[in-house]
Amino acid sequence: MSEKTKRYFLSEEEIPRYWYNILAEMPVKPLPPLNPATREPLKPEDLYPVFAEELCRQELNSSDAWIEIPDEVREKYKYYRSTPLVRAYGLEAALGTPAHIYFKNESVSPMGSHKLNSALAQAYYCRKEGVTNVTTETGAGQWGASMAYAARLFGLEAAVYQVKVSYEQKPYRRSMMQTFGAQVTPSPSMSTRAGKDILTANPHHQGSLGTAISEAIELARTTPGCKYTLGSVLNHVALHQTVIGLEAEKQMALAGEYPDMVIACFGGGSNFGGIAFPFMRHNLKGASSTRFIAAEPASCPKLTCGEFRYDFGDEAGYTPLLPMFTLGHDFTPPNVHAGGLRYHGAGVIVSQLLKDGLMEAVDVEQIESFDAGVLFARSEGIIPAPESCHAIAATIREAAKCRETGEEKVILFCLSGHGLVDMASYDKYLAGDLVNYAYKGR
Ligand SMILES: *Cc1c(COP(=O)(O)O)cnc(C)c1O
Repeated sequence: MSEKTKRYFLSEEEIPRYWYNILAEMPVKPLPPLNPATREPLKPEDLYPVFAEELCRQELNSSDAWIEIPDEVREKYKYYRSTPLVRAYGLEAALGTPAHIYFKNESVSPMGSHKLNSALAQAYYCRKEGVTNVTTETGAGQWGASMAYAARLFGLEAAVYQVKVSYEQKPYRRSMMQTFGAQVTPSPSMSTRAGKDILTANPHHQGSLGTAISEAIELARTTPGCKYTLGSVLNHVALHQTVIGLEAEKQMALAGEYPDMVIACFGGGSNFGGIAFPFMRHNLKGASSTRFIAAEPASCPKLTCGEFRYDFGDEAGYTPLLPMFTLGHDFTPPNVHAGGLRYHGAGVIVSQLLKDGLMEAVDVEQIESFDAGVLFARSEGIIPAPESCHAIAATIREAAKCRETGEEKVILFCLSGHGLVDMASYDKYLAGDLVNYAYKGR
């Protein structure tokens, strides 16, 4: 009997040297983001007061398909990359499916999720441009922890606004951020104009990514030497995350397979875009016909129930107007445990791809997501982040179809993070205390 390979790795040399910018190769380019004051298409300069300049240029770059990863960022990637590509033999057996299931394990990053891939890049460009302080928002704390660590590595001070309900429910990610020296404030807070307005209108506001983004942007705009950073949604964030899919492409080749389906959970679209776009480029050239499936929570279903229109990325309306699938920028999602998926909108690129039928979206109820996460934990030995459980649930649905039809489809999903700091959520699930939240607009 020949031995089976469980995990595939790349050498340091093989870690990608370029990120892939799908914007340059999309058949239908997205509508331009608009300056909310003038309603004119946004220019990179319009974003300079808020973001590092190189990130503004990346955001609007629709001509270069490949953007070089700076050596300083690649050096940091070597601390945890390549991340393993894993054949989920245990899950396949538990499901009795003929499908070949692979996952890209981003949970091995020091912060436990894919978020560090972009945090390192953003902190690097801020440092290079002479910025001294960065500010950001965070939900479950995955992005905040990654930014806190990346800021520390590049010698920047970090101030993080954390969604209030997560700040209270997920105290250990707050401790992680503080361990790396970041200042953490629950949002909405009384420390900004936006926070005061939100709290005056609704004193019991639990916070959302939208409120935290408003507060962080306001701090950046009103503080010299301070820039804002965002962990999802924007084009440049998905760009940095393509290191996931580019590695996975080489690793799938080592396994001698190519995915029929690529699946990822969906908050704003960065881990989805990160794993999907490098494979999608072959679909765009007609060289493959892989299906791309985004899995979102049924309680915050912007892709499956949202409207495609211009909307703000934050509660207060400080961001540019973005053409995207949205539930409305004042939508406060229910308090599900997948904090990283509680966002009202979807990235501009992904929204256009969905509109053009180049990808699909499914929604998953909270209890189904934990059912999937627990099955995965018991068969693969990794406790997934509540966010990642949505990708696993969608994978299990597809693997079950293969069981019916007997097809040996190849499924690749992104394990965006582990859940070791989210055990309070698992406690609730195991105690039978979790509920599903219906979305009222359905
Ligand atoms: C933030 C987060 C997500 C959702 O964000 P995307 O930008 O949609 O990837 C998913 N999984 C984990 C573990 C996260 O921390």
